[in-house]
Parts: sequence; C-alpha cells; structure tokens
Amino acid sequence: MSHTSKTRIILAMILLIGGPSFAQQMKRCSSMEYLKDQIQKDPSIAEKIKDLRNLIANSQANQRLEQSNANITIPVVVHVVYKTTAQKLSVARVQSQIDVLNEDYARLNADRVNTPSGFLSIAADTKIRFCLAQRDPYGRPSTGITYDSTTVATFIDDDKVKFHSLGGADIWDRNQYLNIWVCNLGSSLLGYSQFPNGGQPTTDGVVILYTAFGRPGTLTDYTLGRTTTHEVGHWFGLYHIWGDDGGACAGTAQGGDDAVADTPDQADQTFGCPSGVVTDACNNTANGIMYMNYMDYTNDNCMNLFTQGQTTAMTSILNAVRKTLKTSKGCTPAVTGMEEQAIALAAVQVFPNPTSETATVDFGGEPIHEIALYDLLGKRIWMKQVTVGAPNETIDFSNLGDGLYTLQINSADKQTHRKIVVKK
Ligand SMILES: [Zn+2]
Repeated sequence: MSHTSKTRIILAMILLIGGPSFAQQMKRCSSMEYLKDQIQKDPSIAEKIKDLRNLIANSQANQRLEQSNANITIPVVVHVVYKTTAQKLSVARVQSQIDVLNEDYARLNADRVNTPSGFLSIAADTKIRFCLAQRDPYGRPSTGITYDSTTVATFIDDDKVKFHSLGGADIWDRNQYLNIWVCNLGSSLLGYSQFPNGGQPTTDGVVILYTAFGRPGTLTDYTLGRTTTHEVGHWFGLYHIWGDDGGACAGTAQGGDDAVADTPDQADQTFGCPSGVVTDACNNTANGIMYMNYMDYTNDNCMNLFTQGQTTAMTSILNAVRKTLKTSKGCTPAVTGMEEQAIALAAVQVFPNPTSETATVDFGGEPIHEIALYDLLGKRIWMKQVTVGAPNETIDFSNLGDGLYTLQINSADKQTHRKIVVKK
C-alpha cells in the first residue's frame, strides 16, 4: 500500500470516528447537586430539608384536606440577564413561558392526550397559576420582566446570576414573587432551582438557560418550555420522580423515592423519549414507570403530567413554607392615587406626640427611604435618607421651638404625612 493510500485510510477513519456530529448531551437539571452545595455551606439546611420531606410524606395521607379548591396565582418576575441580543428574550417569549406554566400546572397542555390511560385517573390540575408581576416590590407598575446586560459570557449553578454586583440581577422579595433568572448557562446545563428552605433568602428562585426558555425555545429537544415547568416543581418542593438514589429501589437500604404516594417507583432518570410501557429494575407493573412526568428527565415533547400526589405535596408546601405568596399583591396592578398611598403607609406612627425633646417614627414595617420635616409655613427644615428596612427613626426637636410641624414620610412610590406638636 502506498503512503498516500495509507494516509487516505487514516483520514477516512478519523472522519468516521470524529466526523458525524453528535447532538450534545444536555444536563436537564442540577437542583440536587445545588442542594448538596447549599447544605455544605449551611448545615442547618439539612434539617430543614428533612422537615420538607416529612411534610410531603405526611401530606400524602390527607390528599383531600390538603388540596385547595380555589386557584392560587403566583406572581412571577423574570430577570433576563443578557450579553448578546439573542439572549435578550422578547416580552412575547417570556409571556409564552408563563403560558406554558399555566397550561402545564392546570393540565390544559395540548399534549395531555398523550398521558397513558393507566395514569389518567391520577393526572392532576395543580390549581397553581402564574402571572407576570404587575407591580414591583415598591408597589410601582411593572411588566414583571427585568432586563440587565452583563459582561459574563456563561453562568453556572453558583448563583452569580442572582446578584447585580456579580454580573446578574438582584432578587425581588422571595416572599412576594417567584424569581426566575434567564441567562446563558454553561456546562450544557438547562436549569436549576432552590428548594423551599433549601438555601438563602437572597438566592431563592430558579435559573433557566435562555435557549430552553419559552415556547418555542431554540434548543433541540427542549423547545416547549418544560425546563421551567420542571424547575418550578422543585421550587415548590417536588423531588425527581426516581428519587435520586442512584438506581436503587424504594424500600431497599439505599433506595429513595420522591415521597409522593402515587408516582410509581422508578430506578433512575429517563432520557430522550421512550414510547409505550417501560419497566425497569424497580417497576414491573402493567403501567410501568411514569417517564412522562414533568419531574423526570425526558424531552419536552415527552412530558405531560403532574399527579394528584404531587399536587398535594406542592399545595402543602405552599401552605406551610411559601404561604406569603398566597397574599402577595404582585399580580394586582399598581395604584398611584394619593388616598391609596396614604392607606398603604397607615402603619407609620409617631410617638410621643406632643413631644418636648425627641419623637420616634415607627415605620410599621414599610420600606421607608426618606423622611423630611416641614414647619407651619411649609419650609423644609431637614431631610434624612433612611436605610430601607430600618424599623424606625428618632427625631431630635431640642433645637426647634414650640409649634406644629409636619413630617413627610416617603417610600419609593408612596408618601404620607404626620403632624407633630412640639411643646417644651
Ligand atoms: Zn430536576
């Protein structure tokens, strides 16, 4: 064989081995690894997660008691953190993801017809709904979407995207909003979530790769927005359907499960999109494993249900751990009328009044950022910036004469006044 022929054969072999372009294997989710990291940083989280599991397990016996008849709407803020124009997702694309969440959590998804008949009786409307926030944490009108440009090319599951100072966007009050960050995640990662009580309040939310966000997304196999459906499931406390036990079966020494009663035991995660009944080492039943559950790892077009048991789990966690979301005003349009503003700051109190020396302004939990004192003629005597979140501020009247003063109290968008009488 000539030298050139040999070269040709070697070249052909290289082409055969390296030539065909294999689709990159994406990593569906790193929420469990993330949880382990959080526990390592703050060991007290381990106990809280144990409580969470117990809460789920206990809820399963009382499904009817736990489930709610009325829908609960969760205000959502989507933080779009972009470096390129492709990453700066449109309002329509963001809205399409909210639509997906509302369909999937209501079991109004078009592909619910693909749920196998053996699972139909337990497929559930979770009664959880979602809105894009209509007001920000200060009560100002909002689209529920924030846009922040960044110099960071790729984020990972280290939470940098959740801090403006690290190239991301700061969280909105997690007691009032579900925070979703959308960015360019590296390491082939589609998304990750913080479990309820599974991390710090400043990082509580989910992070989604921008190509897998919304419908249609642009990432092959993940175009239907189910990455977010899955990650929000974790945010409500749901575990992966197979229990993250490395293939072991429930009831064995190493075996774990998702603590949900009606999801069948399953050895490990499912990739791609199988068809028909699939059985495995832990499940040889007629219905097989539930690889079409949103909490498995199958492709977006393969998933189509949450179960009654998962609904009960999410509802009980919502009632116990995330209950402030139920009374959040995030879905209600902002109001700007003066009357409403004064009512909003009604908790602010001044005492003693009349005073001879000092008076304390109790902010009543309102996010006050500025107070100013005016005399009878409307002349401003002084003004002070207050740290937002401070409980109160004390005013010194020792250098002021007797008389009637007006205190103006400002939050970011609201203002109220209090009369103060000084009498020495
Ligand atoms: Zn997951």
